[in-house]
Amino acid sequence: MTKRCAVITGVTGQDGAYLAQLLLEKDYRIVGVARRSSHYGIATHRLDWLGIADRIEIVDGDLLDLGGLCRIVREARPDEVYNLAAQSFVKTSWDQPVLTAQATGVGALNVLEAVRLEAPEAHFYQASSSEMFGLAQQPVQNEATPFYPRSPYAVAKVFAHWTTVNYRESFGLHASSGISFNHESPLRGLEFVTRKITDAVARIKLGLATELRMGNLDAQRDWGHSRDYVHAMWLMMQQSTADDYVVATGRTTTVREFLTAAFSHVDLNPDDYIRIDPAFLRPAEVESLHGDAAKARRVLGWSPSISLEQMIGEMVEADLARHRDRI
Ligand code: NDP
Ligand code: GDP
Repeated sequence: MTKRCAVITGVTGQDGAYLAQLLLEKDYRIVGVARRSSHYGIATHRLDWLGIADRIEIVDGDLLDLGGLCRIVREARPDEVYNLAAQSFVKTSWDQPVLTAQATGVGALNVLEAVRLEAPEAHFYQASSSEMFGLAQQPVQNEATPFYPRSPYAVAKVFAHWTTVNYRESFGLHASSGISFNHESPLRGLEFVTRKITDAVARIKLGLATELRMGNLDAQRDWGHSRDYVHAMWLMMQQSTADDYVVATGRTTTVREFLTAAFSHVDLNPDDYIRIDPAFLRPAEVESLHGDAAKARRVLGWSPSISLEQMIGEMVEADLARHRDRI
């Protein structure tokens, strides 16, 4: 029997790496789309960390290059296409709004076009974001909550989200969106608040740093683990009908509570190390996100399996191990 094939854009990112690991366990052939850099070639460090880099067919590609995406999809003949690539860091989106609109917004349209033209039977996944709720119109957000984006990133994600819905309705594509709330892991980028905290906790504990400069500690997020969230993506692709699903834990926590738990994990008091630095404040803030994933639970049978405390412990331990290796 031929293996099922998945094309993953953003395979070098956090979710791409965990999704590739999950699909390898399910015996998929994986074609990973990745950008070349003059410094490191393809940045496979996350795939290396999981020990799976050599089991993925990496192809050069960029979300901005429709012709290249068409060629990749034509040659791969995928059963499933996961669009995980994006300029994904909210704060950077104010410094690079046009690039963010192109990659995070129009990039999704390019992948949808490649699927429509070259593999219209393939199931398509779009990585939509809870940032689309932004200035949240309801205290707990579900699929019916209106969007109110608060950053160029979120505006671009709204465009990509509605384009996905439109391609489903216009062309009959099996195109689904996961409206994922924040999800983290030891493979999260260092610029995101959770990994910034766990990395700093590890460095402070090992005597490699003495302080941690932070922005708004009152912001609240519904934080889950990337391993759980890529499982939800795969479940969406197995449904007979495409649809949109909120993916969330249903528990919301402040940045202050997150960092207190991370410092406590190594028996340190955050008050001794935290400095507030306006450089980390944003022109417009998303104060609170709190998701309701009842539909994903009901239709997909999905629920998160990793608690916030387990995830913080795993992240701090992974960063301690990384820094110990370097001492
Ligand atoms: P990452 O930032 O870790 O990964 C982003 C990936 O996109 C990287 O592989 C990056 O490649 C790639 N990429 C960026 N620009 C381009 C481009 N122009 N062409 C091709 N590839 C590109 O993000 P995550 O894994 O955390 O998130 C996956 C997706 O889910 C993203 O779309 C994100 O916006 C979305 N999302 C994430 C949430 C989260 O909490 N993690 C929540 C909701 C949505 P390179 O390695 O070369 O930089
Ligand atoms: P986001 O939800 O996609 O923007 O994910 P982030 O991890 O970047 O930010 C989550 C929240 O943490 C936001 O409300 C930020 O304003 C807040 N935050 C507070 N201090 C920091 C910081 O130093 N870095 C980052 N990245 N976020 C911070």
